[in-house]
Parts: sequence; C-alpha cells; structure tokens
Amino acid sequence: MRVKKRSKHRKAVKFYATCFGFREPYKVLIDGTFVHHLLTQRLLPADEALRDLLSASRTPALFTSKCILAELRRLGKSHAESFDAAQLLTTTKCEHDKVVGAVNCVQSLIGDKNPEHFFVATQDPGLRENLREIPGVPVIYGLKNSLCIERPSMQQRKFAQLDEEKRLNMDISEYKKLLKAASEGKTIASENGSGEEQHEMPISSLVKNALHVTDKTKFKRNKAKGPNPLSCKKKKPKLPTAIQKQVRLMARQRGRGFGSGREAKKITSNWRLRTRRMGLRRKFQCSC
Ligand SMILES: [Zn+2]
Repeated sequence: MRVKKRSKHRKAVKFYATCFGFREPYKVLIDGTFVHHLLTQRLLPADEALRDLLSASRTPALFTSKCILAELRRLGKSHAESFDAAQLLTTTKCEHDKVVGAVNCVQSLIGDKNPEHFFVATQDPGLRENLREIPGVPVIYGLKNSLCIERPSMQQRKFAQLDEEKRLNMDISEYKKLLKAASEGKTIASENGSGEEQHEMPISSLVKNALHVTDKTKFKRNKAKGPNPLSCKKKKPKLPTAIQKQVRLMARQRGRGFGSGREAKKITSNWRLRTRRMGLRRKFQCSC
C-alpha cells in the first residue's frame, strides 16, 4: 500500500515537472492550517517530510506570507505554537499593503498561472477546491500522520493536453503571420526582378522560405583521396644503382644458361668483398 502511494505521488510530481516546468529545489507555500497539522501530528522536521513526499533529491524551500502569519496571530493562544513555527519559514512578498485573509493571499500569490511554481500545502478544503481549477498548481495536504499530493485535476490534465496540442500544431494566427511574412518576401523578390519564379511557387514552399527551411538535408560525401593503404604492398627499399645493375646482369646470365643460383650467390659475395676492398665507385668503373 505504501509503495503504491509513493508511486502515485511520484507520478503527480512528474506530471507537474513535465507539463508545467516544476524544477528542484521545489517551492512549497504553506498556510496556517497546514503548519498546525504538521505540529499536531508531529510530522517534523517539515522540510524532510516534504522532501520525502516529493521524492526530491534536494530539500524543498518552504514559504509563507505576512497575511498567513497575521491570521495565525489573530487565532490567539491555541495557535501560538503554529505562529512561532511559521515565523521560521521564509516570508514571500505579497501585494497586500493591508493584511487580507490567508485564502485570498494564497490565491493572489498563485494568480492564474502559478508563475513561481509553488506547491500549495493547505488543510483548507475550500482553498483546495479553488486551486484545482487553476492549471499548474499541485496541492499538498495531510491525512492523519501522513502527507499526500492531490492527483492532477481533470481541468489541469485537459489544460496540459491542449497546451501540448497547441505546441505541436500551428495556430491559425501563426499561420497567417507566416503567410504574411512569405508574401512580403515575394514582393521583395518581385522588386528584384525574380517575381515570375515566386508566383509559380506553392504556399507551402513560400512558408518554408519564410522559415528558412530546406527541403532536403545536404550530406557531404567523403571522396577517396588515394588507394586504400591496407590493400597496398609495402614499398621495397631501393638498392643503389650499381647493385641494381649487378642483379640485372645475374638475371641475364641465368636466362642464358650459364650461372646457377650458387654462382650468382658467389658473384654477389665476391662482389661484396670487392666492394669492401675497392669501394663501390671503383668496381663500377672497372666493370664498365
Ligand atoms: Zn498577502
């Protein structure tokens, strides 16, 4: 049961992160009723309990407002402890010069779109119901000695779906704007003298031109710069010209019939001895 609950909470947090851009460290706006619940149920420390609830890697930042604090103070001795605890939270700035009720203050802080990405923690059923109507407002509440996140409401899910569709499909006004931009491009082109070509183009290509979208991606083909080095034989080191001549002579002698392999070997060895004694140049001159 506990695992099932945790996965439900994770799913809800993921929904708000994906569809409404909630990011860690999460911000939690806490009202007086929730502070009172945390204290009576001993769900302390509150930031750790909320971190566990949101399955967050970083401790969430907890906020309250001066109107919420004022309401707790008005409640007197019964809520004195809650007032002291709420004073330790970060006070977010609200628009109210004159203190208003906590419900009104929370609603004004959230506005129409919850720009600050607050999770609202409250035990007030009326406020919870109101917040369900606003897209992108996750609600946290306490159930005895455990904390819960409300499942995204039908309105919130519909809004997220519509928003996604809007992002995927082009709006009519956007389409008109594109057409206008394309026609402006066309008039400029006709002024430059290439109007006939532009008139023949379909609307889709005009829109593409306005967006600077190319039809086909251009790939560069790597051309072969030479033969594959792996398929080539290694180059033999060049012999000096005198040795080359000697080798050729030996091959000729072998072809004529006189001079076996042994003799050839002998010649080369002799020649080597000679070269050692006489030097290469002298031998070459002698043979000539
Ligand atoms: Zn206020």
